[in-house]
Amino acid sequence: MAQEDVFKKIVSHCKEYGFVFPSSDIYDGLGAVYDYGQNGVELKNNIKQYWWQAMVLLHENIVGIDSAIFMHPTIWKASGHVDAFNDPLIDNRDSKKRYRADVLIEEQIAKYEEKIEKEVAKGRKRFGDAFNEAEFRATNQRVIEHTQKRDALHERYSKAMNAMDLDELKQIILDEEIVCPISGTRNWTDVRQFNLMFKTEVGSTAEGASTIYLRPETAQGIFVNYLNVQKTGRMKIPFGIAQIGKAFRNEIVARQFIFRMREFEQMEMQYFVKPGTELDWFKQWKQTRLAWHKALGFGDENYRFHDHEKLAHYANAASDIEFKMPFGFKEVEGIHSRTNFDLSQHAKFSGHKIEYFDPETNESYTPYVIETSIGVDRMFLSVMCHSYEEETLENGETRTVLRLPAPLAPVKLAILPLVKKDGLPEKAHEIMNDLKFHFNCKYEEKDSIGKRYRRQDAIGTPYCITVDHDTLNDNCVTLRNRDTMTQERVPIASLRDLIEDKVSITSLLKKL
Ligand code: ATP
Repeated sequence: MAQEDVFKKIVSHCKEYGFVFPSSDIYDGLGAVYDYGQNGVELKNNIKQYWWQAMVLLHENIVGIDSAIFMHPTIWKASGHVDAFNDPLIDNRDSKKRYRADVLIEEQIAKYEEKIEKEVAKGRKRFGDAFNEAEFRATNQRVIEHTQKRDALHERYSKAMNAMDLDELKQIILDEEIVCPISGTRNWTDVRQFNLMFKTEVGSTAEGASTIYLRPETAQGIFVNYLNVQKTGRMKIPFGIAQIGKAFRNEIVARQFIFRMREFEQMEMQYFVKPGTELDWFKQWKQTRLAWHKALGFGDENYRFHDHEKLAHYANAASDIEFKMPFGFKEVEGIHSRTNFDLSQHAKFSGHKIEYFDPETNESYTPYVIETSIGVDRMFLSVMCHSYEEETLENGETRTVLRLPAPLAPVKLAILPLVKKDGLPEKAHEIMNDLKFHFNCKYEEKDSIGKRYRRQDAIGTPYCITVDHDTLNDNCVTLRNRDTMTQERVPIASLRDLIEDKVSITSLLKKL
């Protein structure tokens, strides 16, 4: 199946099984805003718990906070967001559609890459075992031409972006003959800067009201609480502050489902370190965060780092962790060495001294910061994409199964009485009432057992038990495994021991 079709299926699966709904669905939705349903919220909470515990529980020197979404407007002036949190946008006059100029150019670069890969694939097919890829890439005329065009474009684009040269970005779009995918024309407007922050007003009267912003990142809530936490928690450098919360960006082009949303959630951790040690910590956090992803067991080959060439105004190093989605390797998390930019700016704009006094060396300094920043929703999407499978069974039937890591699954155990009578529902409820204190259980009595198994497969429930007539005599149930579909007869008394370890977040944390 083409990857595009797979992605469409995942999106409709998310809706059909109560994971993600378009926001305001009965009003035909609201662009790039989504709601999480009964299963989605459980999965999302498990992801957040996995992250929170990996940060706050496993590190003695990391503590959490929960800061407000509304903040003093000067914070965004100090952070640079009012002046520089922009995307270059361009409109097509015929289709009236709006695009990000940088994305149009990046897609053009990707087109050259696709052409190169196509030629290489053709070569591989033609030469079979004798195929020497390196030689082919160095000598094939068409590959050479596409590579030269790609590299030249990449260089020109990087220069234009670094200088934020909007005229040059437009010229690149014209020179590359990039057309609007809707109208097919090259009737483009000039490129303009577009600030991504949402504004609103606080205060009741027009005169007394002042403009405030919905935060575009949670990080600033951490920076402005640095002194509060350091003092009240008597924290010694190095230490970290973690936070999970909503962020808002007025994204120009909302695409790819929950990959790019206007309201989303971030899990951010700012690690405060001694100046001069930041690049060592940067390296270390890259590895720590990659290990967190890999512990989910999605395959090491599905991750890669992308080190940034163009650094944000506050950074001296930056790298993304990319995950292989059905639409290619995409950023899920950013790790940034933010220098002392933010704390210094807040010191300047607020008039407060923001420094750390090191009792060992008797010196004061403004700490440097390593930030790890991951989108909950993007993480959710990567989990969904990797777990979704349409499996062909030995008997030729197909089943849709979500192979979620058990600790992330919304429901851990489905409890199914074989029939709705003869005391079986009562027995099933008895089991449920005992186990529900230990992990999330779901009772289901409607439809045949086979259909109930399929429904649980589709939401990723790792275990099902069937309560039958024998259960009433021998106190045993049939335990069915989602992945292997094997069934075994086990005593009710052993269920908790058999399941709890495998479905707890602790089992993931122990892999770190
Ligand atoms: P992108 O280049 O994709 O716009 P970014 O580099 O601006 O992302 P950061 O500012 O580094 O992203 O944000 C950290 C993380 O927050 C990202 O890695 C991503 O997981 C998440 N994120 C950022 N913007 C969005 C969005 N519009 N919707 C969902 N998640 C987002």
